[in-house]
Amino acid sequence: MKIAARVPLGLNNQFASDNYAGICPEAWKALENVSAGYANSYGDDLHTARACNLLREFFETDCQVFFVFNGTAANSLALASLCQSYHSIICPESAHIETDECGAVEFFSNGTKVLLVPSLEGKIDLAAAEHAITRRTDIHYPKPKVLSIAQPTELGTVYRVDEMKAVGALARKYDMKLHVDGARFANAVASLQVAPKEISWQAGVDVVTFGGTKNGLAVGEAVIFFDARLAREFDYRCKQAGQLASKMRFLSAPWSGMLVDGALLRHAAHANHYARELAAGLSGIAGLEVVYPCQANSVFIRMPESLIEALRQRGWHFYTFIGSGLARFMCSWSTCQADIDALVGDVREMAAATQG
Ligand SMILES: *Cc1c(COP(=O)(O)O)cnc(C)c1O
Repeated sequence: MKIAARVPLGLNNQFASDNYAGICPEAWKALENVSAGYANSYGDDLHTARACNLLREFFETDCQVFFVFNGTAANSLALASLCQSYHSIICPESAHIETDECGAVEFFSNGTKVLLVPSLEGKIDLAAAEHAITRRTDIHYPKPKVLSIAQPTELGTVYRVDEMKAVGALARKYDMKLHVDGARFANAVASLQVAPKEISWQAGVDVVTFGGTKNGLAVGEAVIFFDARLAREFDYRCKQAGQLASKMRFLSAPWSGMLVDGALLRHAAHANHYARELAAGLSGIAGLEVVYPCQANSVFIRMPESLIEALRQRGWHFYTFIGSGLARFMCSWSTCQADIDALVGDVREMAAATQG
């Protein structure tokens, strides 16, 4: 086979997703450190114990911690452990578990039904959720068992502490569990500047799937159970689903690298900061509209289709999955001012050209 001349394979300045970014220095260093020598496999090692303890310190409680490879597994296995197959999970219609996980929740739970309710700027409409819970109480309909929300939401908004408590209270009122899809949980904590416990167990959350990948890890999410009874045999569930890493230290140690010196929240705050910068820069351009409040690390912009096309032609990557004419730009731990300036500059120039 002939090998082509070496060319840079990476992309520059991309805003498609925070999972386009590389591995942050703290996670990289942790991988290097734990690679020396040998360690027990399947999580029975001191590096993994340390990461679990640092996550317990982060949440300020004695939670049960498991590491899996990705968010789809974290969400669907966590939800499966909260439900029987005849139960239902109630979530906003924009939920990642509904729109982006290929039915994994239903698959791993052996058929638990996901019921969708409307959302307001990505946040679950509590009145609609209560209606969905109480609409039927007979045996012919699946029994509501879990409320599932994302923090931040898929639209980049963040539930305030009182809003989280209100969701928790609704779950308790109907003897349901509360699951939080926290693929970007660190961005929510950094945005609200609260203790992680205030938007988790103190607000009535039973399990958080805590994302590492989008915040700078190479791979991996932590599943955090605040009620040990719900984590019963979760290790078996992970193993059966192909989610038990044999070289576990490479999933767990980067969490320690991120937690010991506060890098986790620093990177999240960094990404949030540049999202606000980007929103400010783009909002000044005629014909563009910032659509949702910019509270985490994403910016949603309504713009003409011709401009979307022109930006793509120039090599910019971004998603338009929420609806036509609506572009999502996502900042990460590695976004820098030059990236923002380059995008805003191009948008300004092309907006003028496509209008003129
Ligand atoms: C990215 C993301 C996930 C996880 O997705 P994977 O690709 O399976 O790692 C889960 N929930 C939300 C809201 C996400 O944005």
